[in-house]
Amino acid sequence: MLSASQLARLAALGEERTANAGDVLYRVGDQSYPFIVILDGEVAILDAAGNEIVRHGPSNFLGELNILSGQTVFVTAVATRPLRYIAVDRDALRSLLFEDGLLSDLVLATFIARREALQRVQGIGLEIVGPHSSAATMRMLDFARSYRLPFTWRDSARTDDPSAAALVAGLDEGSLPLVRLPGGAELRGPSPGEVSRALGIGRELAPREEADLLVVGAGPAGLAAAVYGASEGLDTLVIDSTVLGGQAGSSRRIENYLGFPAGISGTELTSRAVTQARKFDARMATPYRAVSLEPGNGRHIVRLEDDREIAARAVLLATGAQYRRLPVDGLSEYEGMSIFYAAGPPEAQLCGAARVGVVGGGNSAGQAAVWLARGGAIVTLLHRRVDLRETMSDYLVRELERFGVSVRDRSEIAALHGKDGQLEAVTLKTGERLPFSFLFLFLGAQPCTDWLDDAVARDDDGFILTGAAAGAENPLETSVPGVFAAGDVRSGSTKRCATAVGEGAMAVQLVHGHLAEPSLTQRSTAA
Ligand SMILES: Cc1cc2nc3c(=O)[nH]c(=O)nc-3n(C[C@H](O)[C@H](O)[C@H](O)COP(=O)(O)OP(=O)(O)OC[C@H]3O[C@@H](n4cnc5c(N)ncnc54)[C@H](O)[C@@H]3O)c2cc1C
Repeated sequence: MLSASQLARLAALGEERTANAGDVLYRVGDQSYPFIVILDGEVAILDAAGNEIVRHGPSNFLGELNILSGQTVFVTAVATRPLRYIAVDRDALRSLLFEDGLLSDLVLATFIARREALQRVQGIGLEIVGPHSSAATMRMLDFARSYRLPFTWRDSARTDDPSAAALVAGLDEGSLPLVRLPGGAELRGPSPGEVSRALGIGRELAPREEADLLVVGAGPAGLAAAVYGASEGLDTLVIDSTVLGGQAGSSRRIENYLGFPAGISGTELTSRAVTQARKFDARMATPYRAVSLEPGNGRHIVRLEDDREIAARAVLLATGAQYRRLPVDGLSEYEGMSIFYAAGPPEAQLCGAARVGVVGGGNSAGQAAVWLARGGAIVTLLHRRVDLRETMSDYLVRELERFGVSVRDRSEIAALHGKDGQLEAVTLKTGERLPFSFLFLFLGAQPCTDWLDDAVARDDDGFILTGAAAGAENPLETSVPGVFAAGDVRSGSTKRCATAVGEGAMAVQLVHGHLAEPSLTQRSTAA
C-alpha cells in the first residue's frame, strides 16, 4: 500500500481519471499500459480466459514487471466498482523510481512478487505447443524459464491433451514449437529472439553496431561494468545470449551479499542492477549470442548469431559459467520435464509435495533444497563427499536440518528410471534405488568460453587468463590489449556475486586507462 505522501507525489506526476464498473483499464495482449494507482473503488485482475486472479483496492497500485521492461501485457484489469485513479505514464514512473528510493523499493519488490505469482498460474502468458522430442520446443521452454516469463507448455505428445496434438498436426520440425502470444497471435518455429521482439522485450540491434565498451554477458560482472561504464561517460553496449542477470538471477536467495543482512533474491538484485544501468543509459540487448571475437587495432569485432557484428574500442568478457550435466544415459529425455538446473517458482509449483532429489554439495544446491522443502516437497540432497561442510556454508547446512532435508553423503547417480520424460527413480552407484519424481542438478560449472577459440589465452579448464598470467600489464586484461575479463569466466576468480561486481567495476577503470593511451589513439586514428 502506498503512503499518503507517495500518493501525493504520484498524483502530482500523473493524471486523475475515473472509470465505471465493468470498464477495462488494459487487457491481455496490449502493448503497454500506464501505472495505475487506485484512489477509490476496486479493480479485478483476470487471466486471458476471464478467471479472476486478485482484486486491488484504494491506495494500491496495478502492474507487474512488464510495465518497466515494456513487455506485452499478460493480464486484464477491470473496474469492479466505480473507480477514481491516477494514471502515470511509464517513462514518468521510471524517472520517479530513479529519484525516490523508498517508492522504488516498494514498487520493484511488488512487481517481482507479482511476476513470481503469475509464473505459478496456468494459462497466463505464452502458450508453447510442441512435443518433448522437439529440441526447438525444449529450447523455447528454457528461454521462457530463464526469462521468468509466465507460460504454459502443452506437450503435443501427451495422450491426455489431444487438442494440443491437433494444433501442431502436419507441422514439420522447423515449424515447431507453435507459440501463442498473449492476445492470440501465433508464431511457428520462432527463435527466442523473435518471441522476445514480439513480446516487446529488449532492444533490437542493427546489423552493425559500434560502442566504446562492449560487455559480453549480463551477469553481476557485466551489469556492474554497464553501470560504471555508462555512468562514467562511455558509450556502453551490453549483450547477453539469454537474460539480463546471469546465474545470480536464478539464485533463490543470496545471503552473503554485502548490505543485505536479510538476504536478497537473485531476481531482485539483478532487476535493481538492470534498472540502475538503464538509468545511466547503458544499452542492453538480449538474446544475442556472441560467436566470435576478432581482435583488431583499436577496434575489436564481436560477431553475433544471425550475422550481426559489433565494433568496440574495448571489450569486457563477462560470460560466466554454466552448470555441468550429469553423465548418465537418457538424461535429455527428462531435462525440462522432471530434471532441472534451477529451482524457481514454476518448478516448485510443479514439484508440490513430491519426492525430490537435489544433487550437488555447493551453496546453490543447498539453497535450492531449502526452497523446495519450504514449498512442501520431500527433499533429499545427494553429494559426493564425506562431509557436506567441506563444500557448503554452515548457515545453509543448518537450514537443511531446519527444513527437514535429508542429506546423503558419498552418493552418486548411476542411472535414471521413468517414462515419457517423467522421472520415477534413480539408481545410485552403490546399487541402491531411490524414488524421485524430480531431480535438480547443481554440479559445478564450466566457463562459457568455447566461442572464443584461441582469440584470447585460456587456462587448461577453459577459463580466461588475465594479468601477469596472460602477459598483460593490467590485472583484468587478457592476452589481447583492450580485451578484459571479469567474474566467473576469469581464471582464478572467486566465484561469488560480490567478486563479479567488484571485478566488473574495476574493469571499467582499466578500460578508461586503455582508451586514454596515446599509442591507442594514434593506432585507431591510423586505422
Ligand atoms: C543457483 C545459484 C545460487 C548462487 N548463490 C550465490 C550466493 O548466494 N552468493 C554468491 O556470492 N554467489 C552465488 N552464486 C554464484 C554467482 O551467481 C556467480 O558467481 C555470479 O553470477 C557470477 O557472475 P558473472 O557476471 O561472472 O557471470 P554469470 O552470472 O554466469 O553471467 C554470465 C552471463 O553471460 C551470458 N553469456 C554466456 N555466454 C555468452 C555468449 N556467448 N554471448 C552472450 N552472452 C553470453 C550468460 O547468458 C549469462 O547471463 C549462485 C549461483 C547460482 C547459479
